[in-house]
Amino acid sequence: MEVSASIRQARQKQCHTLSEAVAKQILAEYGIAVPRGYVSGTPDEAVAAFAWLQSPVVLKVISPEVVHKSDIGGVQTNLITAEAVHQAATTMTQRVSAHGYQVEGFLIEEMAPSGCELVVGGVIDPRFGPLIMTGMGGIFVEVLKDVAFRFCPITAYDAWEMIHELHAAPILEGIRGQRPVSKEALIEVLLHVGGQHGLLLNLCDDIQELDINPLIVTDTRAIAVDVRFVLAAPTTAPTKEYETTW
Ligand code: ADP
Ligand code: MG
Repeated sequence: MEVSASIRQARQKQCHTLSEAVAKQILAEYGIAVPRGYVSGTPDEAVAAFAWLQSPVVLKVISPEVVHKSDIGGVQTNLITAEAVHQAATTMTQRVSAHGYQVEGFLIEEMAPSGCELVVGGVIDPRFGPLIMTGMGGIFVEVLKDVAFRFCPITAYDAWEMIHELHAAPILEGIRGQRPVSKEALIEVLLHVGGQHGLLLNLCDDIQELDINPLIVTDTRAIAVDVRFVLAAPTTAPTKEYETTW
């Protein structure tokens, strides 16, 4: 399968993570919507790509060692003109370089409509296999640790339960006049990640962690606007830990 090929290639090159663009391609192959976008090497290339996209767009730095792009000025949202894209790419290069990181290029992509920002994650437990988690993004995950976990594979009912287990679940129903988010779209993403034929079970030999942060869920759809895959360490020959005596 195409997906495993790109992961194996990255592992052979001793990479620890996948680039955001490759990671998004993998999500798309598993049926998860991602923004339309292009990888460009220079500010001029980003401007050329802008012509093919629906404005407003987001510009993101591509730099293999960076984990939180926005912490170092590596994300610029709401760009609506070619000039703004060029300007953003130029200042982004200066800011990111000033933090000591190398700029490999830029990911330029369409902006998802506004909605609720959730997190969908996965980790491969060495003893129990893949675990899936979800929660509302931002402070709900980072500070309040309001998350729900399940072992994989999950069913649609498990996904439904996970969502309703969250303390922040009432927010999904729409507060202060906001429209409720599509739970169906969210459940579908949870199944594409943690279901019987989902990404985590399929790729559990090759990946260690998955972090979709955020998944933007609107009243009709769910779009993964940022994703990070941590690859499994290269396999070494198994060591003999103990000998049975019976
Ligand atoms: P970081 O590496 O800092 O987590 P992200 O790619 O998550 O960078 O971008 C930071 C924030 O910018 C996101 O949490 C989201 O609010 C917004 N964002 C990023 N990409 C998009 C997009 N395509 N559409 C809408 N908002 C986006
Ligand atoms: Mg993010």
